[in-house]
Amino acid sequence: MNTALPYDMLIVGSGPAGQKAAVQAAQSGKTVALIERTRELGGSCVHRGTIPSKTLRENALRVRNMRLNAALANFELPEDIELATLIDRLNEVLLAHDSYMRRQLERNDVELVHGRATFLSATEIEVTSVTGDHTTYCSENILIATGSHPRHPSNIPIDHEYLFDSDSILSMMYLPKSLLVLGGGVIASEYASIFQALGVAVTMIDKYPRPLGFLDSDLTDTFVSGFEHMGGTWLGETRVVSAQWNGVDAVVIETAEGQKIEGEKLLCAAGRVANVKELKIENAGLALNESGLITVDSQLNTSVPGIFAAGDVIGPPSLASASMEQGRRAACHALGIDPGIMHHTIPVGIYSIPELSSVGVSEKQARQEHGDVLVGIAKFDEIARGQISGIQDGMLKIVSDPQGEKLLGVMIVGEGATELIHIGQMALLNNANVDVFVESIFNFPTLAEAYRAAALEIIRQRK
Ligand SMILES: Cc1cc2nc3c(=O)[nH]c(=O)nc-3n(C[C@H](O)[C@H](O)[C@H](O)COP(=O)(O)OP(=O)(O)OC[C@H]3O[C@@H](n4cnc5c(N)ncnc54)[C@H](O)[C@@H]3O)c2cc1C
Repeated sequence: MNTALPYDMLIVGSGPAGQKAAVQAAQSGKTVALIERTRELGGSCVHRGTIPSKTLRENALRVRNMRLNAALANFELPEDIELATLIDRLNEVLLAHDSYMRRQLERNDVELVHGRATFLSATEIEVTSVTGDHTTYCSENILIATGSHPRHPSNIPIDHEYLFDSDSILSMMYLPKSLLVLGGGVIASEYASIFQALGVAVTMIDKYPRPLGFLDSDLTDTFVSGFEHMGGTWLGETRVVSAQWNGVDAVVIETAEGQKIEGEKLLCAAGRVANVKELKIENAGLALNESGLITVDSQLNTSVPGIFAAGDVIGPPSLASASMEQGRRAACHALGIDPGIMHHTIPVGIYSIPELSSVGVSEKQARQEHGDVLVGIAKFDEIARGQISGIQDGMLKIVSDPQGEKLLGVMIVGEGATELIHIGQMALLNNANVDVFVESIFNFPTLAEAYRAAALEIIRQRK
């Protein structure tokens, strides 16, 4: 006799992907169980990634601004400042988020199941509770939204005491005097510049010549010069052979180029891998691809009918924002609901100091795909609001087709970039011409005016 509890949809993982999928499925009148192994809801987005790092960033910006205003108030952080002091409002933010999510799930009658999920077959999942009890759930529609965890390269012995990963870095007790950051991706760039802004001497090390290689080099050059201006060191084209705690006072890195680099602590940000170990996806007939992720088609179907996957477990863009929409769409596809148009213009937000953001294609990509595209650049220090606010290291770049008409992409570096980008996103979604930025009235003085200045530069180049 089959004693499995039946549901219209089973969802594993309560991060942004799982949560939005659960709400979408439940609002369609379906019975939904959301399985989560941790006591808290929200996944790594809420507890280890996005929200904690952005809370620290907010305080790092305050510290940096106070230092910049040192002429007014001679400001220095106390030598032995605890990291917890610098993420002081985090608990409040997390509690507010957790109770909001719980209320939303309850309101929608989503059954919350606390335990570890393991596939028994393509339609059955066993959940093991903290007390060791096993319960089996079954459904024709299952969503894997189990997220990811940091990749640990074999030559970097992460011990979470001296050598950290991005999940454990904020568990450091005190702010170190120096920090080595391995990697040049989003997480590495964010934490490197945040800690540098807090006064930690940060050295960022990566095998590529520039960090954030998917952005145009004028943007990343602005980021690197801002980071170095704060006192940070960027070491590109450098391969780390080994990293060891010397047992006394430093982590020592040896590079293939023969350098020895020391720092009080180390952060390894070398990518993330899918959380599938406990799931036993092989029992459902699934396997990981060569990147260690679950492959899905455009409708987020895995290779097994009825099983969908969304969020970090399927790989890039690996953003909370994209994961939410993937989760919602996966639930729609599973339950035969029209999810609406799929927009491919997903903005990328990088909360480094200074901030970076992009939408559409980069200039480099546009040149490959469209030939001699036109580019308009507006520097924030040439815009009234930028001058008033003393912003020196910001710029906005618009890329258009070779005729200087169709908008192809926007990239921004500078504080406010992650908000400003949405103006460009809306224009792209509406297939607007570059002229829209000149024909619209923007508040004055605003940084958004940079759109007009950059668009005028493109119009000036039209033949
Ligand atoms: C340092 C850092 C900063 C970031 N900053 C940003 C940012 O600024 N903006 C942005 O958009 N994104 C950011 N991200 C990325 C964002 O956090 C992820 O893209 C997002 O959390 C992925 O959501 P998800 O739902 O796929 O998975 P997760 O949020 O990882 O959630 C997965 C959930 O599944 C649960 N789970 C796993 N296995 C099982 C199992 N077998 N049984 C039951 N439950 C299970 C886990 O406990 C977890 O709660 C950041 C990430 C990091 C690490």
